[in-house]
Amino acid sequence: MEFFPVFMDLGGRDCLVVGGGTVAARKLGRLLRAGASVEVVAPQLCEKLVALRDAGKIRHSARAFEAADVEGRALVIAATSREAVNRSVSELAKARNIPVNVVDQPKLCSFIMPSIIDRSPVQVAVSSGATSPVLARLLRARLESYVPAAYGHLAKLVESFRDRVKKRFSSIEQRRQFWENMLQGEVAELLFAGRDETARAVLEKALQHSGDEPHPVGEVYLVGAGPGDPDLLTFRALRLLQMADVVVYDRLVAPPILELARRDAEQIYVGKERDNHALSQENINQLLVRLAKEGKRVVRLKGGDPFIFGRGGEEIATLMENGVTFQVVPGITAASGCATYSGIPLTHRDYAQSVVFVTGHLQDGSVNLNWKALAHPDQTTVFYMGLHGVGIVADELIRHGLPQTTPVALIQQGTTQNQRVLICDLRSLEDTVKTEQIKPPTIIIVGEVVKLHETLQWFKPLPGANPRPFGGHSHV
Ligand code: SAH
Repeated sequence: MEFFPVFMDLGGRDCLVVGGGTVAARKLGRLLRAGASVEVVAPQLCEKLVALRDAGKIRHSARAFEAADVEGRALVIAATSREAVNRSVSELAKARNIPVNVVDQPKLCSFIMPSIIDRSPVQVAVSSGATSPVLARLLRARLESYVPAAYGHLAKLVESFRDRVKKRFSSIEQRRQFWENMLQGEVAELLFAGRDETARAVLEKALQHSGDEPHPVGEVYLVGAGPGDPDLLTFRALRLLQMADVVVYDRLVAPPILELARRDAEQIYVGKERDNHALSQENINQLLVRLAKEGKRVVRLKGGDPFIFGRGGEEIATLMENGVTFQVVPGITAASGCATYSGIPLTHRDYAQSVVFVTGHLQDGSVNLNWKALAHPDQTTVFYMGLHGVGIVADELIRHGLPQTTPVALIQQGTTQNQRVLICDLRSLEDTVKTEQIKPPTIIIVGEVVKLHETLQWFKPLPGANPRPFGGHSHV
């Protein structure tokens, strides 16, 4: 079970803190910043709380906790050193459905408090789901350095212009585009550099001059999503994913990568080749053109690299014919990702001086390749889409001179937590695919380098770690 992340409005609401020590004081600070009206119940207060009480920021009942104290509160925090008191506060609050947090005792909590990167009014909350506060804190430290200190300023600036921008642009699309241009460009940079006035002036000018702009121009970004592990995306891929209005994707794109898209971006599944729901390549090309002409920023997300067995060339040709602007973002191709994650260097001084990527796709029941060139002893050959044709592939390579014992690796769902690596040889290839029930996406590596897997394998998926294999999308 996961926690449900929320930000609560506690302005003017009655909250209870049980305990008067430094831990209580620390938790209380956040409540006060949120504008809560706080009562502290504790026989004694630490220095800091005394100061708050004297300044009229908190109310204090100088006595032990009583059951009636929780009545009518919007939220309760227990921070005493007495186990029994903490437990009793938790039970009483839970019985009344009042959110309760007991410091450092997740079991007694009905909510937990995240680590915060505070750029008020912007807040980034980090939680490890109560598994490890240290982990959350370390992550927070990393994010701290990543989010410019003046981020809150930026939010305030947006706030002060919001109504005017809303009046100026009638469509949400236009407003979003305006703000994204402003917040990623000069305005943001000026603000981060402490030049608030200039930032304001630039924003003002932009607003006046872009008032009656024509319809926003759509664009298509043809983005390589890599083989599966989201960490293998490029920075550019990530940035575009988070900016796009629409994401058009197919079967090869792993679900964790889709989750990186902007939350409210429209997601369009265009199916897989042998699928009834599939859109033909021609229809996909037309869809991209149509979306761009509607003024949308479209990410066309492709597994691996768009220009390696990705039909990326065809998609941009259509875009070009229709005058749609686009860019292409390379990705890590399956051969590279899968080989690396299975400890098989594609080239090696002793075993292979060249590597060839080919498609093992069946056409009219055969695989049309230059077998003579492929049956080369000092070469690694990587077959994409080869599962259906493995029998032919093995026969032809043997017929053209490769030993039957040439090692072969089958890598299924490479780089993901579901990665499977099976080693066999040319002779046993077809049987292995059958008996092991190998499923797409699988890549096939043929050559002496495959032997290195035994010693160089380093990536070990966690057993049963990923309950969401890709290849079948439940929402289709
Ligand atoms: N453009 C993609 C390839 C698309 S062709 C790229 O550059 O990687 C589809 C084939 O790629 C699949 O049939 C399979 O052979 C291979 N493939 C893609 N992702 C894979 C993965 N995670 N594991 C194993 N093979 C993969």
